[in-house]
Amino acid sequence: KVRVRFAPSPTGPLHIGGVRTALYNYLFAKKHNGDFVLRIEDTDQNRFVEGAEDYIIESLNWCGIPFDEGPGKEKGYGPYRQSERKDKYREYAEKLVESGNAYYAFDTADELDAHRKDHEEKGKTFIYNWHNREKLKNSISLSKEEVQEKLDTEEAYVIRFKSPKDETLHLKDVIRGEMEIDTNILDDKVLFKSDGMPTYHLANIVDDHLMEITHVIRGEEWLPSLALHYMLYRAFGWDVPKFAHLPLILKPQGKGKLSKRDGEKMGFPVFPLEWKDPKSGEISAGYREEGYFPEAVVNMLAFLGWNPGTEQEFFELEELTRAFELERVHKGGAKFDPEKTKWFQQHYIQQADNKFLTEEFQKFLKKQDIEAESDYVYEVVKLIKERVVFVEDFWNQGYFFFMSPTSYDPKDSKKAWKEGTNDLMKELSEVLKSQDDFQAEKLQNEVKTWIKSKEIGFGKIMMPLRIALVGALQGPDLYKIAEFVGKEETLKRIETAIG
Ligand code: GLU
Repeated sequence: KVRVRFAPSPTGPLHIGGVRTALYNYLFAKKHNGDFVLRIEDTDQNRFVEGAEDYIIESLNWCGIPFDEGPGKEKGYGPYRQSERKDKYREYAEKLVESGNAYYAFDTADELDAHRKDHEEKGKTFIYNWHNREKLKNSISLSKEEVQEKLDTEEAYVIRFKSPKDETLHLKDVIRGEMEIDTNILDDKVLFKSDGMPTYHLANIVDDHLMEITHVIRGEEWLPSLALHYMLYRAFGWDVPKFAHLPLILKPQGKGKLSKRDGEKMGFPVFPLEWKDPKSGEISAGYREEGYFPEAVVNMLAFLGWNPGTEQEFFELEELTRAFELERVHKGGAKFDPEKTKWFQQHYIQQADNKFLTEEFQKFLKKQDIEAESDYVYEVVKLIKERVVFVEDFWNQGYFFFMSPTSYDPKDSKKAWKEGTNDLMKELSEVLKSQDDFQAEKLQNEVKTWIKSKEIGFGKIMMPLRIALVGALQGPDLYKIAEFVGKEETLKRIETAIG
């Protein structure tokens, strides 16, 4: 059975790159009727950030890609936070020492620095592996007694992986194919520290094994760790899962990794949800709060490194789970395009059910302290839907359905309001007043006939009327606006505009 995991470290808000990793894991799991596991990799206490785990979970839920198994959803492989699995890791680190695949090392940070300097001076790079291992302070170079004494006196140590000499490793990646790595360039990575905590590498491999993970789908930044992970599986004698490393997400300009700063500079979010830093109080924008629908964000992320091989661009989550294939994920970096997200948003809001949009818009109106009948809001939604990208746009494009204009656009007014306009507007008021049936088509007929009888241009009436009703030369059909706000309000707005 396919089992995949998303394994973030709770060191801050989840970047959209992380959400994409989660999404691809989710899609792959669903496609194969597998399990999607969330594992919190919180072994590095120094980098732990309050609230980050909740943020991660809320983000997945908002995107509609909840995990099947994880914190709070125990399915027999838990606990799912590494800080709650601490005891397991020591046992496995010690197993590796026993089998000769790892060793204790007692070198202090200062000693290692000195070695590095020393090498540099000779124009060489210091690598902690078979090149230097024998000359350093560890359980390979020291006698058994010396080692035992150090352990007994609780001298600080780490457990390092003993990487082999002169070997070529053959690594496989579903997206990248086969890779060869010469072990001589690998250093003996630290697996376990004397504070009782494993490093990422050990904890990650042990947990993937114990949680029976079949496919590891993660960001490209972990590719350099793949050789070590392969060697660890081999040292333990465990089956190796399949690996797929997803391409980097690049800046809109194309060069370099997309960062929080890019978003701030160019005005787009790089986080799914708004995030308030618990220490600095700094707020980072999120797609949800900016008014994006999760469908738009998910569709955008799906295409950030993958394509279906067809012309189809719009995919709802369910379609994605059918179409998604790991083999179709690109190797090269994926350029981030903020406009594309807007384009998806526009599509999904046009597709959205009017009832749903009415509810959303009503929530918005409530926040502005505007009470409106839902039938009325529904009609407004129907009328101006094609002009909106975000729910907020119903307000920007249609505030005049709910209140009289509070100001008049100076440029537009100047254009619309000429000498004689006041008198024409007064006459128009009389025409409108005599209308019993204040309905758009009827109004249009009457007003048109009247304008024709006066032998003046339409603009002379329609422009100032628009200023009176809307406050600017914009908006949908004027007669509709008049019908919607009603006779009394229309007359009132004309009167106010005349001043
Ligand atoms: N904890 C790692 C991260 O934060 C997990 C990497 C992996 O998936 O192996 O991305």
